[in-house]
Order: sequence, then C-alpha cells, then structure tokens
Amino acid sequence: MTSPIWHPYAHLNTQAPSPKVVGGEGPRFTLESDESLLDATCSWWCMIHGYRHPRLVRAIQRQAEELCHVMLGGLTHEPADRLARELVRVTPEGLNHVFFSDSGSVGMEVAMKMAVQYHYLRGKPAKHRMLSLMKAYHGDTAGCMAVCDPEEGMHSLFAGFLPQHRFAPAPTAPFDAEEDAVQADLDALREVLEAHHHEIAALLIEPLLQAAGGLNMTSPHYLRGARKLCDEFDVLLVFDEVATGFGRTGRMFAADHAAVTPDIMVLSKGLTGGYLGHAATLATDRVHDAFIGDSELHAFMHGPTFMGNPLACRVALESLAVFEEDDYLDRIQALNGVLREELLDDEALRVHPDVVDVRVLGATAVIEVHDAKALKGVADFARARGVWLRPFGRWLYTMPAYITSSNDLRHITGVMKHWFSTRHTPRSGRDVATHP
Ligand SMILES: *Cc1c(COP(=O)(O)O)cnc(C)c1O
Repeated sequence: MTSPIWHPYAHLNTQAPSPKVVGGEGPRFTLESDESLLDATCSWWCMIHGYRHPRLVRAIQRQAEELCHVMLGGLTHEPADRLARELVRVTPEGLNHVFFSDSGSVGMEVAMKMAVQYHYLRGKPAKHRMLSLMKAYHGDTAGCMAVCDPEEGMHSLFAGFLPQHRFAPAPTAPFDAEEDAVQADLDALREVLEAHHHEIAALLIEPLLQAAGGLNMTSPHYLRGARKLCDEFDVLLVFDEVATGFGRTGRMFAADHAAVTPDIMVLSKGLTGGYLGHAATLATDRVHDAFIGDSELHAFMHGPTFMGNPLACRVALESLAVFEEDDYLDRIQALNGVLREELLDDEALRVHPDVVDVRVLGATAVIEVHDAKALKGVADFARARGVWLRPFGRWLYTMPAYITSSNDLRHITGVMKHWFSTRHTPRSGRDVATHP
C-alpha cells in the first residue's frame, strides 16, 4: 500500500518512492536497504552536527527526564532563559530581546508583525508593508509567501490570496565585490525606498546568501549600504538568518561579515542543530522599547503553543556549546578550502557548456546550470555513488554538516564534478525538484 504521507514539494504523478531512513551517524544516514548515504544537503541545511551526535542526544534525554514542555505564557523556565541569554551573547551587538517560536516561517511572521506594530505604536500606521528582494525565500506560511520572489518563487499561484508588498531587484554584485561594484544594487534599493518608504515597515534580507531562491550570493558592502538606507528612510532592517545563521557563510552569522546589527534577526534551521524544530526572533532595544506603554495595543499579540519548548531550548544550548568548544568556525574554514579547491579551481567544470556559474561561500557551494534538464537524473547518479544530493531548479549544491571530513567532502564534490564530466549520454531518472 502506498503511504498516506503527503510529501513536501512533490509532484504526485512523477515522484519516485521515497526511501526509508532508519538511522544516521555523523554525516551519513542509513536506509532500510542498508545503503549508507553521505548527506550533501545536511537535511535542508539544519543538521549541522550530523546525525546522532552523542552530546545532543544526551541533552534531549536529560531534559526529557526533567521537563518536556510547559507554556511560556505567564511562566518561564531555565532552558528558555539560558538560551535567550546565549543568543543575545552570540548575535550582533544590540540584539537584546528574544521571541521564541517553532519554525523559521513563524519566526519570520513574528518579525513582520513586530515591524508593523512597531511603526503603529510610534504613530506611523501607514508603514504596514514589507520591502523584499527578488529571488527571496522567507518561508511557506501566508505572510512569508507574500514576501518570496513573486515571479520565480514557489508561490506565484497564490498571488490573489496574498497581501501585496514591494520588491527591489536581487543584488548582483558577488561576495568579494568592491564597494563601488555594489553601488548599482544599492541605487536600485534606494529607488524603491524613495518611492514607497511612507508605506514600508521593514526591509527583509537573507544576508549574503539568498538560499532557496537560487543560492544567490552578495557582498557585505550591500548589507552596510542597506543598513544606511533603512536608517535614512525610517525602515526597520530584518535579517532572515534562518539559513545563514550558525556558520553557514563562514562566520557565526552573515551579519558578522559586515559588522551590521539589523533591527530584527530571525534564526531557525541550525539553532537546535536540526534536532528539534524551533526559531528565535531577536530585536534591539529600539524595537522592543516601542512596545512599552499602557494601551492594550502595546501587547505583542503572538504566542505559539510550543514557543520556548524546553527540549528545543536545551538541545539548542548544547548545539551552541559544541559549536564553540569544537571550533566549528575553523572546521567551516577547512570545508571552504576544499570547496574552493575542488569546485572553484576546477577549470573544466567552470567552462563546461552546461554550467553558468560556480559559487562558494563558507560551507556552501553551488553549480548553477543553464537549463534544469542538465540536472535530470543527478540525484540517482549520486545515490549510486553513496551521496544524497537534492538539486532544485538550475542549482546543484552542497551544504554539508560541519563535521564532514575533507575526504567525505571531496567525495561529494567529486560526484558533482563527475556528473558533468560524463554528461553527453542521455539521462533517465526522476525530474529535478523545483524546490530545495
Ligand atoms: C528554510 C527557511 C525559512 C523557513 O523555515 P521553516 O522552518 O522551513 O519554516 C525561512 N527563511 C529562510 C531563509 C529559509 O532558508
């Protein structure tokens, strides 16, 4: 009998049967068939410590024996309190307040509501729209769909259902661009702000790496310029670090590359090391203090049932401790070295007729092709060689767990390159997913 599970982003007509995962260890998971696959995607980028990390497993077990859940409404507990303090410590200076929720999408919904209410409470209720970027992805809930790329994003079908926001062009200058080279991107941003700032509450940015919208990378100068523009036009700056947070770009947070503090920052995926779903929306004093007042309207009307879940907070604390004690930023730098050497320095790959661009940032690498057809069959090709790759659209990428060894990472990049070097014979196999 086919399973009643309705899989995400799946075309029911063409989807291949999903293999059953029965366990995992380090960078690999194991299938029922006994196949062991090296996970090049780190399970939608969240399993940064790999599978079955003993310290994370133990943290959950210990917390389960003490307290699995209690609401944060009118109550508090040690794991939530400690995690909030730790997040304030590790995030950019000035983000002093933490609102917990249960997923990246909800964390972004919280950020947007906070921004709108902030302006309302300051007597600017007309500032109730968002400014987002083309190629953006901020989640799948209604509020988030409305700020994803409205044309090439995943949610254009829902346009009639969604509130209308403003969009600026996606940044085009690469990560290592000089300040001058970012000016055109910033001018495009300024143009939208000049025309619409009176109705814009916040600018939403996935800093340095627009992830699900095609792994588009840009420069820290862009973030610094965006910060200035937001101050000039009284617009809050929101960094969606759901994908970039916890080391993915080579620093703890993408914001750290630019030494910029956003007004609001959202964390999720890597927050718990992927072991439980959770998110945090952080805000500066400026944002938080606007909510201090006597009217009923001063309360922030949001409260997910599972916000601050003790198991999630405890494992997030352990994740952060492992990250720091095991020098993950050094490991990420080593992974970055391998990705550069194996992909960026590979002339044959870069000039391959199917390939548009090869990009590397931190522990992220992507090979962008001209036509999604050039990736058809690559997932099966990789699986036959012991690697779990899940390309989407025109992007073949890896975001490995940080505990992946150099040899294992070379195996992943080797399979990615091998696909192109053998690609003149026609391929069969499942279609490339349109989404990560
Ligand atoms: C994954 C992602 C989200 C959504 O997070 P969920 O936990 O899947 O709801 C939001 N923003 C970015 C940048 C993401 O990569």
